[in-house]
Amino acid sequence: RAKAEGRGMVRMFEPEMDERIHDQRMLQHDLQRAIDCDELELYYQPQARITGEIYGFEALIRWRHPTRGLLSPNVFIPIAEECGLILEIGEWVLRTACRNAVTWAAPLQISVNLSPVQFRHDDLSTTVLQILMETGLSPERLELEITENVLVKDFARALQTLRSLKKLGVHIAMDDFGTGYSSLSYLQSFPFDTLKIDRSFISRLNTDHLTDAIVRAVIGLGRGLDVPIVAEGVETEEQRAFLAGEHCQNIQGFLIGRPQEIGDYADIVGIECKPQRSLRRSAKTG
Ligand code: C2E
Ligand code: MG
Ligand code: MG
Ligand code: MG
Repeated sequence: RAKAEGRGMVRMFEPEMDERIHDQRMLQHDLQRAIDCDELELYYQPQARITGEIYGFEALIRWRHPTRGLLSPNVFIPIAEECGLILEIGEWVLRTACRNAVTWAAPLQISVNLSPVQFRHDDLSTTVLQILMETGLSPERLELEITENVLVKDFARALQTLRSLKKLGVHIAMDDFGTGYSSLSYLQSFPFDTLKIDRSFISRLNTDHLTDAIVRAVIGLGRGLDVPIVAEGVETEEQRAFLAGEHCQNIQGFLIGRPQEIGDYADIVGIECKPQRSLRRSAKTG
């Protein structure tokens, strides 16, 4: 019976699995070329005070794949983590974001996401220091975003890494707060500079009283700990009003602005660079 079932399973799942594995291998192969051929890009999404004043940007990676179009990090970051390319990609992100931020007239914050693989790598703080020195970015302008899951395994070591990063003068944000597997006790051990409430909570605000209660409690937790909160994924004025009513300090989301090329935010950051897109357009017409 087991054999029959086994064969049934194979028949049911094999083609699909095969296709997925094949797809992953293709992407993995393409990813090395993406790094070598400059197909990776950073988009920037504004972070604002609850009043709307923009104080920083989060760098979000995209892959302009020659045949598949613009790919989301959710598609290729897991692959990069599996095959180790994430270290090279992560360093590129950090360097590119810092290089870009030093060209801004306004000394706004720049937030960069760290993969758990990067976070666990021995050289992380050396790499960050090197990039800060090389680009000349003031450390306090850089915020590194980690997720709760990096604290689950080997907490003592994670703490060491956080402290050595903190010594460089950079800020540390807890991303996707409330969705990980670690207990809240880590908040006693390390002073995070920001807690980012995950978008999944914000998207259900005003529709579900349990979600409202959780968001209210997290904002209260931030106040008690004296850690500013960023609400992620704010899309509507109703969500913003709820957060304002609870005295949430900061918001990020489509309501304020979508992730875009930095040129699209040139007036905010204070750069004269023309967006590449319009250069291309004028090249075509001219
Ligand atoms: P994240 O760090 O939590 O980033 C926020 C994600 O929510 C971004 O998706 C952003 O585009 C999206 N978002 C922001 N506001 C809204 C909104 O109002 N509505 C909706 N529906 N979505 C919103 P994105 O850019 O696709 O990135 C997904 C995830 O990929 C990020 O989540 C982060 O975990 C990861 N990621 C992005 N860039 C990097 C990177 O350079 N390195 C690493 N290791 N991971 C990255
Ligand atoms: Mg993030
Ligand atoms: Mg997040
Ligand atoms: Mg996320």
